[in-house]
Amino acid sequence: MSAVDPATPVAEAVEASPTHTPVPVAEALEATRTHTPVPSRTSGTDPATPVAEALEATRRKRSLDELRALAERGAAELRSGSADEASPAEVVAWVAANVSPRLAAVACSMADAALPHLIAAAIPGVDVLFLDTGYHFLETTFTRDEVARTLDVRIVDVKPEKTVREQDAEHGKDLFARDPALCCELRKVAPLHRALGGYEVWFTGVRRDEAPTRANTPLIVFDERNGLIKVNPVAAWSFDDLIAYATAHEVVVNPLVANGYPSIGCAPCTKPVAPGEDPRSGRWAGLAKTECGLHV
Ligand code: SF4
Repeated sequence: MSAVDPATPVAEAVEASPTHTPVPVAEALEATRTHTPVPSRTSGTDPATPVAEALEATRRKRSLDELRALAERGAAELRSGSADEASPAEVVAWVAANVSPRLAAVACSMADAALPHLIAAAIPGVDVLFLDTGYHFLETTFTRDEVARTLDVRIVDVKPEKTVREQDAEHGKDLFARDPALCCELRKVAPLHRALGGYEVWFTGVRRDEAPTRANTPLIVFDERNGLIKVNPVAAWSFDDLIAYATAHEVVVNPLVANGYPSIGCAPCTKPVAPGEDPRSGRWAGLAKTECGLHV
């Protein structure tokens, strides 16, 4: 992992990060050095509020059939997949008009703050779920803290049942190197599934251009596995669109992005990629695995 002082501004952190072939986003990141604080309800996690209690307070009210029907109506009204489908802001506005703000959550990998920023504009104080796997780069936890500090959101750290040490004791050290599917199930998929039980909608930052497996991502769909509506408001964005939004709105971007990491996951399973390479080729490099299981 690369060390970044949490007090270090983004541009300095980028400067201090390991040297890789510069990518075009470097200039855009320079422009994100100063963040414009959004009026804050409570920035960050309330350490006195256990996740389970917080989720209990947000129990969904509609049945699965009602949510399934709402997702179908949303897909039609947002013209998902058509040539004139709704813009990201229109998608978020539709959710804000149809779902209680306490029943919506944003899943964020902390590669950037564009998605939380976009959603907080329409749903102030929205819960942002951060999968705290115990294996993150320091730059990612730095970005998480910056999101908590600068946006009107509430960070919910979603943790696995076992710490890394406990997992090592049960499965042996470095499970990610021997069985990454099981490691992702234990540290990402299952914890997220539990956390989503308290919501009616979750937003993701999945984009169609990220991988062939994501090419047909809809704007909105009923997520059968997790039992709630899944909304992908930036599905049509390119990587450049993402950086342009982050720059225009001066939102934080993980310093690793400017250093060859267009897609960021856990440190042991993420490598930098060369310019022009598949942006997700640095994830589980050398293995057949391409997805952690959250979006399949
Ligand atoms: S990305 Fe790697 S370290 Fe993170 S949960 Fe998956 S296998 Fe484990």
